[in-house]
Amino acid sequence: MKEKPLSPRVQTKAEVQPEASKVVELMPGIYQLRGEKPGSHVYFIKGDTKNVLIDTGVAGKFPVLKRRFTELGLRVKDVNLIILTHEHYDHIGATSFFHRTAVVAAHRLAANKLELQDEFVTFRKYKDQPSKPFWVDIWLEDGTIIDLGNYELQVIHTPGHTSGCICLYEPRARLLFTGDTVFAGGTLSEIAVGGNVSDYVNSVRRLSNLKIKQLYPGHGKVSSTPDEDLPKAIIYAQTMLDDCKTFFEAFIKTRKPQDKLGSAFGYWTEVQD
Ligand SMILES: [Zn+2]
Repeated sequence: MKEKPLSPRVQTKAEVQPEASKVVELMPGIYQLRGEKPGSHVYFIKGDTKNVLIDTGVAGKFPVLKRRFTELGLRVKDVNLIILTHEHYDHIGATSFFHRTAVVAAHRLAANKLELQDEFVTFRKYKDQPSKPFWVDIWLEDGTIIDLGNYELQVIHTPGHTSGCICLYEPRARLLFTGDTVFAGGTLSEIAVGGNVSDYVNSVRRLSNLKIKQLYPGHGKVSSTPDEDLPKAIIYAQTMLDDCKTFFEAFIKTRKPQDKLGSAFGYWTEVQD
């Protein structure tokens, strides 16, 4: 007897989970291209005369990023300027694919490390990501203004997570692109190589003086409550500072003669007499 062919299994309505959109228009002409892990979110701003990309995610996810561009009716060469929020592999990875036609900008403390391909800081090789070199065309400083006509981006140097971190503030719409400096809910990043807690405290305090309606971070959710998030971020940053004191007080009390301070941080070079 001939077997009846199996009918294709149809998902019930309850089983069909609509995929969250990967391209979201946050403001007129400002799009979030959601990050493909482990990469960061990428933001595209359609300026009056120039188009800007804020961060580029990881190199390995460039084909996905290219597809997102196609969804927006864009090509890679439609990007005129790339602004990197800091020097980490998950924010800079796909930059080299745009560099033939786009100008690349980063804070000078990030630019130096990127140009020297400082793997100890960028983590590209450590995370087994392609390390295609590019250089930084414009070395940014705190206070630099990038005028796109319809939008203006003010560079705010916010060291802490790393030394080369910046946030980008749009004063008319009151938007803040934060990279890894502050996330929704006031969450902060870890202190990575080159960063430090006291700079982080100052950076977050400076940001809390701005009038901000929307916070666009490099990972996680967009926040519409920066007024609540930033005071929390200041408390978190201060807590990190206090935790350091507590750690060293405990370390001094309990350390054995052979313990070295550097062993607590995993990296230490002994200087030979
Ligand atoms: Zn980072």
